[in-house]
Amino acid sequence: MDFRDSPQEAEFRARLRDWLTETADGFPTSGDEYWARQGEWHRALYAAGFFGSSWPREFGGHELPPVYDVIVDEELALAGAPPRPSLGYLVQGLGRHGSKELQRRFLPGMINGTERWCQGFSEPGAGSDLASLTTTATRDGDHYVVHGHKIWTSYSDVADWCLLLARTDPEVPRHKGISAFIIAMKQPGVEQRPLKMISGVTREFGQVHFDGATVPADQMVGAPGDGWKLAMTVVGHEREPSTLGYAARYGKLVRQLASRLDGDPPDELAWAAVQTEMLRLHVRRRLSEQLDGVVHGPDGSLDKLLMTWVDQSVGHAALAVAGTGDHELLGSYFYSRAQSVMGGTSQIQKNIIAARILGLGV
Ligand SMILES: Cc1cc2nc3c(=O)[nH]c(=O)nc-3n(C[C@H](O)[C@H](O)[C@H](O)COP(=O)(O)OP(=O)(O)OC[C@H]3O[C@@H](n4cnc5c(N)ncnc54)[C@H](O)[C@@H]3O)c2cc1C
Repeated sequence: MDFRDSPQEAEFRARLRDWLTETADGFPTSGDEYWARQGEWHRALYAAGFFGSSWPREFGGHELPPVYDVIVDEELALAGAPPRPSLGYLVQGLGRHGSKELQRRFLPGMINGTERWCQGFSEPGAGSDLASLTTTATRDGDHYVVHGHKIWTSYSDVADWCLLLARTDPEVPRHKGISAFIIAMKQPGVEQRPLKMISGVTREFGQVHFDGATVPADQMVGAPGDGWKLAMTVVGHEREPSTLGYAARYGKLVRQLASRLDGDPPDELAWAAVQTEMLRLHVRRRLSEQLDGVVHGPDGSLDKLLMTWVDQSVGHAALAVAGTGDHELLGSYFYSRAQSVMGGTSQIQKNIIAARILGLGV
């Protein structure tokens, strides 16, 4: 493996670095201010040619190898700029399961940031056990009518569209009765209620109540009953750290913490530094495999587990170095607690690794 930039990659990196020097200053990187301006940041990155690098040209991407996404993540972290908005899992879900018509209609706006999206999977009684979801979509002429309650829906307050899972057939085994839809969020029958996080953030996610909202039947993604397959594609991609670009941000935080110290680092920081480097190399290896055409299956669960360990080590290091007095670092610690829950909990990742990678009978 040769980790050095090719001449084209080096040119891309230099161009991005210049652009960031001119643009990134002043963009908030955390808290409600970040969420309030995330759409603006997404569109600015896209307009400058630094978003959607690896996605199909047909839908507004640049069809570059995935290494360009990693360069963007590295340079954003290095510049102290906001992260790359993470929606690759939705692009993959729609790209793999949507008809050409749906892809042409929805992928460009999703990628260029002019239309905002959220993911309506989890419910109060259906998180890990997603197949038990109870939101229903009932056919009425050329529409479906939706009733139900979604929760932990990231970006629901600003979303124009929601990739929604709903039960369309209660008679068949539960995985088979779920369908996926692209439903408009701004319509009567959709009520969005923000949730306040322990870090104080109020704009990251909310609960969404659907009470008679409608969705055209031709905005079903795939066939009736195909929702589970789409859900597995989406959560599989949510679990890859290379897609999420976390590794570079952890490295930056560890370096920031180290720069605050005069003497020896606390054990927590030393451990976080080792773990962060391990994740960086792991992500590089995954990327190298992807470039060789290797398709990752349940390995995404290993990635997610590693990423969670690293995030939480860095969170502990932040507390050890700064105590509870630094609002931003305390926020990083609190947020790291969410990592073992979002995109599938650590226990669920371990179940998948046991059953699908190690072949243990769970
Ligand atoms: C920051 C954040 C953002 C999120 N964004 C979204 C979003 O945009 N859209 C969306 O749909 N959802 C989102 N979620 C929800 C997330 O997917 C769920 O929280 C997650 O799947 C867990 O579900 P739950 O909260 O219902 O917990 P539960 O499933 O109730 O789990 C509770 C505990 O039981 C354990 N457990 C459950 N089943 C098993 C089992 N079979 N074996 C062993 N242990 C088990 C879990 O590991 C956990 O510790 C988000 C969550 C967070 C924290």
